[in-house]
Amino acid sequence: MSGPRVLIAGAGLSGATCARVLAEAGIQVEIREARGHVAGNCHTARCSETGVMEHVYGPHIFHTDRPEVQAFVTRFARFRPYQHRVKARVGGQVFSLPVTLHSINQLFGTTLSPAEARAFIAARSRPPPHGGAPENFEEQALAMVGPEIYRAFFAGYTRKQWGCDPALLPAAILQRLPLRFNYDDRYFSHAFQAIPEAGYTALTEAILAHPRISLHLNRPARPGDAREEGFDHLIWTGPLDAFFGQAEGPLGYRSLRFEREVLPRCRDAQGCAVMNYPDADIPFTRISEHRHFAPWEDPPGTLLLREYARDCGPGDPPFYPLRLSGEMARLNRYLARAREAAGVSFLGRLGTYRYLDMDVSIAEALQAGAALAEALRSGRPL
Ligand code: UDP
Repeated sequence: MSGPRVLIAGAGLSGATCARVLAEAGIQVEIREARGHVAGNCHTARCSETGVMEHVYGPHIFHTDRPEVQAFVTRFARFRPYQHRVKARVGGQVFSLPVTLHSINQLFGTTLSPAEARAFIAARSRPPPHGGAPENFEEQALAMVGPEIYRAFFAGYTRKQWGCDPALLPAAILQRLPLRFNYDDRYFSHAFQAIPEAGYTALTEAILAHPRISLHLNRPARPGDAREEGFDHLIWTGPLDAFFGQAEGPLGYRSLRFEREVLPRCRDAQGCAVMNYPDADIPFTRISEHRHFAPWEDPPGTLLLREYARDCGPGDPPFYPLRLSGEMARLNRYLARAREAAGVSFLGRLGTYRYLDMDVSIAEALQAGAALAEALRSGRPL
């Protein structure tokens, strides 16, 4: 076969997007996936007992402000508008999340206006004692919302979710959530918020449906495969530390265990898509009811998934890169190795060890695919 050939490890959104860009640029792509399905952790499957489209590895809501990402995904699937709203059960009450004027007024038993609430929260804000910008999750939360809201909504949830003291976690985790001084209770603020009508697995399969892409499921790629088999480049979307045989020691990942409750004859068990449980004495973090992710359907039953977070043991799928403050030196050594490694690029949440949303993964894969196609065309290896 003539022309360059690229091997891609992993058929999640990053691998599939990059494969598509390369294939459309005339490059032959082989993609190997360890699991028996594509779409990585956004895999969806129809639950046979309830008829519900299940987000098998937990809820995934597509949201983006990036026109190129929206244009790319909507080429391959029909997306239906979906606005994500989350409730939280705290101390025997139900609140609206993220923190909005509603949750502030609910928690403090007040009727503050937007301007009054801004002043009220500013008076509660606890800037870091060192005088600089917040350096960890706890400092970020105390500076942003003060101790009462931090304790009610964030401290217990975060400790359960990440299995450690919030003061050891990056501030950026909290920056994912908005703080609003109005009654807009949408979880995300992006212009495009939607869910693919037939699920993320169908979307990913459509992205991969190209004559120059060959897909192999149940076939993990090994780091040496591309070199040994004469591929011109490897895109690695598996865990960064695994590529280097954990030579610098393991990077920490958090995993999830889901407890499924199947109710074949119930059409609404909790009344919303996601209910968070921040209280420390409840062992799970949230319950998602998946029929609410497809409000255009009306299956006969419902399906609840309780999420229990745990450290990633052997055989557990990694979900979240920990990025604890003590891990950053090790991560930097891996990143230096990655920069020096010839013939391989690293992509995605696991490959770059960052807490990426789906749209950012796709944006980076679009760019990486275009850069690699150009490099291969001009004979200038990456
Ligand atoms: N978080 C929290 N309480 C909540 C919801 C979120 O403390 O009720 C914190 C928690 O640390 C979590 C982070 O905010 O890991 C990001 O939340 P997000 O909903 O974005 O998490 P994901 O859906 O990616 O698991």
